Amino acid sequence: MRAPYIVFRKGERTEMKGRLHSIETFGAVDGPGIRTVFFMQGCPARCLYCHNPDSWKCDGGRETDLEEILYRAERGRPYYGDKGGVTFSGGEPLMQGQFLIEAMTALKERGIQSALDISGTYVDEYTRDALAACDLVLLDIKHPDPERFEIITGCKQDTLFEVIDMMNELEKPCWIRHVVVPDINDTEEDIEALNQFISKIRNIQKVELLAYHTMAVNKYGKLGIVYRLKGVPPMDKGRLDELKKLVRVPEK
Ligand code: SF4
Repeated sequence: MRAPYIVFRKGERTEMKGRLHSIETFGAVDGPGIRTVFFMQGCPARCLYCHNPDSWKCDGGRETDLEEILYRAERGRPYYGDKGGVTFSGGEPLMQGQFLIEAMTALKERGIQSALDISGTYVDEYTRDALAACDLVLLDIKHPDPERFEIITGCKQDTLFEVIDMMNELEKPCWIRHVVVPDINDTEEDIEALNQFISKIRNIQKVELLAYHTMAVNKYGKLGIVYRLKGVPPMDKGRLDELKKLVRVPEK
């Protein structure tokens, strides 16, 4: 049952601060329904195709607090319906686990659902409680193979397994996401390896293959960061549709 509608009281305060990269209202691709998406600042990974390289530095972005999160989340409430809500994306939102536990708990008290869009590249003492506090995990599997995972992200795969173990223990509903890049992971074998990998994850509701695109390339130039996939074309939509047919959503 939904909690009664509570108008957010301006002036409500907590000491906890977070760091925010940006906010998207009416987001329709980061979880079910219409969502307010908070892109949190800071990420330990350096994915080859990251479209938010300006979210990497932990001291970048700007400060935010619970008051702002709740205020912005409440503004979107008329559009959420039964499925929508708030998504914390990034960056890697689990780097701000303590802040998110507080935020997601407060959102739940107001009847607003939260999703966590994570990469499995970061774990700390708050991770388990943060996973427990959300309603849905969007888990981006960068690559099933440990060596290629490290080439893509610059991180070891160990933390991904820790996150998956916690999600399994919690039986947390999740969507799997996987960016498909030409000549990196666009073969039938690559998708079969993904199928095998995710067969160990409980409670998967959906598997999304996402097309690599080059829309962020200019950001790299402005930030003075070398774009390492220069020359790689955007993923062909027809080929992606073929690969989507090979995806198997594991039985719960
Ligand atoms: S995990 Fe996400 S935000 Fe971090 S580098 Fe990779 S794509 Fe970018």
